[in-house]
Amino acid sequence: MSGVLFVVSGPSGVGKSSILAEVRKAVDFFFSVSMTTRDRRPHEIDGVDYWFVNRSVFEAAVAAGELMEWAEYGGNLYGTPRAPVLAALERGEHVLFDIENKGAQQIRDAYKHAVLVFVLPPSLEELELRLHKRGDTSDEDIARRLAVAQEQIANAAELYDFQVINDSIATAAAEMVSILIAAHDQGCA
Ligand code: 5GP
Repeated sequence: MSGVLFVVSGPSGVGKSSILAEVRKAVDFFFSVSMTTRDRRPHEIDGVDYWFVNRSVFEAAVAAGELMEWAEYGGNLYGTPRAPVLAALERGEHVLFDIENKGAQQIRDAYKHAVLVFVLPPSLEELELRLHKRGDTSDEDIARRLAVAQEQIANAAELYDFQVINDSIATAAAEMVSILIAAHDQGCA
């Protein structure tokens, strides 16, 4: 059986990376490493968390059709390199995407059986607190990300198959694993 395309989106700071780290302990996934023009944060590793590139490299990849989806978010460009994903699918692996909602929509358009999950914060106040605590994002950037989050949350029901509230990382991760197993059993690939 071929792999499931599993798209996880949610506002920046909602805890997606922590949840996905737990999910990946339980289920074997090919994680799609995105390309971005955003500056690398201190703990991030090039080629593991993202491929960090400048705008001209990114734009060349778009022009060459090398990205399966891409979007601008918070003033930076983010996109999914196509070749590694297609190779993983051919090997029958599940593919996990951590992308924002314009990218999720593009994946949905190309692969209608993809499983789209939106991670919600317990509240917008809690999200703001988490973004401040993370300490690696400017106040201006936080305000921008909160405005985007509000819009994303309002539109989530239209695009996503499932919504998971991140009250606790363990519970949210367990919910995602159940969704994935159910999707796989139903042959969403
Ligand atoms: P951050 O800068 O906090 O790592 O990510 C900002 C947003 O960009 C997050 O919502 C993340 O899911 C999204 N993102 C990361 N990689 C991609 C990608 O390849 N494509 C799209 N469309 N969004 C991405």
